[in-house]
Amino acid sequence: MRRIGCVRWEVLVLAVATLLTALGAACATAPLTQRSQLILVSRAEEAQLGTQAFDAVSKKGKRSRDPAQIAVVERIGNRIAAASGIQANWEFAVFEDDKTVNAFALPGGKVGVYTGIFRVAETEAGLAAVLAHEVGHVMARHGAERLSQGLLAQFGAAAIQIGMAGKDPGVTRGVLEAYGLGATVGVLLPWGRTQESEADRIGLVLMARAGYDPHAALSLWERMQKTEGRQRAPEFLSTHPGPGRRIESIRAWLPEALPYYRPTPEQVAEGGQFLPAAGTMRRAVAAPAPPSTPAIREGRWEREATAGLRFVFALDRPVALQGAEIRGPEGIIYQVFLEARLEANQREAITLPPEAMPGGVPPAGTYTLTIKGRFPDPAGQPFTAERAYAVR
Ligand SMILES: [Zn+2]
Repeated sequence: MRRIGCVRWEVLVLAVATLLTALGAACATAPLTQRSQLILVSRAEEAQLGTQAFDAVSKKGKRSRDPAQIAVVERIGNRIAAASGIQANWEFAVFEDDKTVNAFALPGGKVGVYTGIFRVAETEAGLAAVLAHEVGHVMARHGAERLSQGLLAQFGAAAIQIGMAGKDPGVTRGVLEAYGLGATVGVLLPWGRTQESEADRIGLVLMARAGYDPHAALSLWERMQKTEGRQRAPEFLSTHPGPGRRIESIRAWLPEALPYYRPTPEQVAEGGQFLPAAGTMRRAVAAPAPPSTPAIREGRWEREATAGLRFVFALDRPVALQGAEIRGPEGIIYQVFLEARLEANQREAITLPPEAMPGGVPPAGTYTLTIKGRFPDPAGQPFTAERAYAVR
């Protein structure tokens, strides 16, 4: 295990009695997951060092001058930053590099996006999933945590003093090395697996609070999975057992984020909009990619006066519906005969009658709607799309 837990940390600190007072500052708790963290640098130091690292990356990379790209990244980023409730010098920068499917976050609120991620993110909600993940890293102070682990490895117990003083030039060097900026400026080291999962989980809640459908994170990772292998693995993938397991975790965390998703109709429409560069870059690809799974928009459910449940949905592209299934708590499985042509964003509803419920009353819990259909093109490729509804 690379992670240093606070218990082991205490043992270490006890050996250095004079440093006992530092213990309070050394142990922190990550938001949402409540994981114990070892953090030896103050927020001010962290922000200062993050800004230095960002300047170094900015000098190496080429900042985009495309006003449409800059505007969309800043708009989405600022909405997510506001949802985090963290006061920081937030900056959301776009780097011109179509080959790099990546994004990064530095302490103090500096977030960078490479243009290569646009074609995988596809829509504003997809990009929101990327940015919410990055803001999640900042919120959970993963940079400060990694730096602290680096300091501890380098200086042992003396790291506390160094960390607290924060003036030692060795600390600055330590930070830059912790970010992988020491030797080769501009190459950012991957986060640990724990930090990646934590950023995913926090990101889902953040994007939901900012008015973006957290389901977009699922479709993002499905597309990311297809991208992998074709080119350099993005930062997100490099430290993970595999995108498949990541997708499973995200699916399991969705019910935690869904209660925060209360979008206005404008926000729903905005989330579905294609990114400025995604269209042009897709045309540049020689072989057409297979159509990705349609995303189910909306997520409304209503309790019917007759004690049934009504699920409202819309798909992001025209399809031929061929049936649906709803799986609810207490073993509810309900097959729906559904044969219709549905236009993009056209609303459709499925009513689960009271007879389908145990005791005639729909229990609260997570209901998963699976839509089966075919794409309307001549090939008529089949697809299934899924969405969870948190019924209270
Ligand atoms: Zn990450």
